[in-house]
Amino acid sequence: MFDVLDHCQINELHVRDDAESGLKALIAIHNTRMGPALGGCRFIPYDSEQSALEDAARLARGMSYKAALADVPQGGGKAVIMKPAGDYDHARLFAEFGRFVESLSGRYITAIDSGTSAKEMDVIAKHTRYVTSTSTAGNPSPYTARGVLEGIRVAVKHRLNKHTLEGVRVIVQGVGSVGFVLGKLLDRAGAEVFVSDINPLAVDAAMGAFASGVVAPEDVCRQACDVFAPCGLSKPINDDNIDALQCAIVAGSANVQLAHHELGHILHQRGILYAPDYVINAGGLIYASLNYHGENAGRIHEKVQGIYATLDQIFSEAEQEHLPPDQVADRIARYRLSHALDHAA
Ligand code: NAD
Repeated sequence: MFDVLDHCQINELHVRDDAESGLKALIAIHNTRMGPALGGCRFIPYDSEQSALEDAARLARGMSYKAALADVPQGGGKAVIMKPAGDYDHARLFAEFGRFVESLSGRYITAIDSGTSAKEMDVIAKHTRYVTSTSTAGNPSPYTARGVLEGIRVAVKHRLNKHTLEGVRVIVQGVGSVGFVLGKLLDRAGAEVFVSDINPLAVDAAMGAFASGVVAPEDVCRQACDVFAPCGLSKPINDDNIDALQCAIVAGSANVQLAHHELGHILHQRGILYAPDYVINAGGLIYASLNYHGENAGRIHEKVQGIYATLDQIFSEAEQEHLPPDQVADRIARYRLSHALDHAA
């Protein structure tokens, strides 16, 4: 356990194992130097406690880096709930999770992530005020999608030397909350959008709304395209598929897109431009944070659009220094974190 925490530089790990509700949850807090940790609550099956811990730790660090680069007053944290294999009382489990969040007295603010929605946040909100993305606060996913669109635009400018998405061929892997909205925005911008999802209903909905075609999940990395946009679960780029990739750009919403750090270097060597995950997918965090702090819609929109300029700077520095963009992004994030005033003090 401590190896994982050390590797991701996690400052705090909180554990709740409640037999009555069936809640088995972890909250990892990476850093609170820029403000209270804000990060989603993931509710998916895990094959082991170790994989739940690794997910929480890597995602929490990603949230710190994301907040630093998006310049929002939050630290990085993440919650994972191990989805029970058998029967359980959904409302009771999330009520207990709400009490767990409350017990941290605001050091961690929760939000939706894979497997949770406004419905769960509403249950949690009955037990703590440290929650965003409830049905009244609104869904951050469309803001994430808008930010990813900006990221794709700037990646296309750098890698393909094009100033429009007209005719750009994009494969969106995972057409859920973010991927579906992203697909619609890309289609509206003139891109040719292909979709891939393990859920046939999601594929049908995308085909009915915007998609030009479907790619089978097992073929998604072998298919030629300009932009591969991973919007499903973690680690879409891994040792098993990196050599098969036939795209010019990887730019999507998924958290933890590279299974390990070295893959960023391999993408760079292969001439594939990678938009670092926590930079391009910051739109939802920007929305959740600014909305939580009472900022208006115009300010939120402006800040989400700012993802274009942030990535522009990262890509330019990466080109000048012949470095993978994720290394440049990590360097900027670490610099900002180490120079931030200690909010928690
Ligand atoms: P979601 O659960 O609504 O959608 C994910 C979709 O991916 C589902 O339709 C699912 O069937 C599909 N999928 C899963 N595995 C797949 C695979 N192997 N191949 C093809 N499709 C697959 O989740 P979401 O909220 O849209 O988030 C998507 C990703 O973006 C996640 O990694 C999430 O952590 C990240 N993210 C989301 C937000 C947000 O605002 N929702 C913000 C930042 C990052």
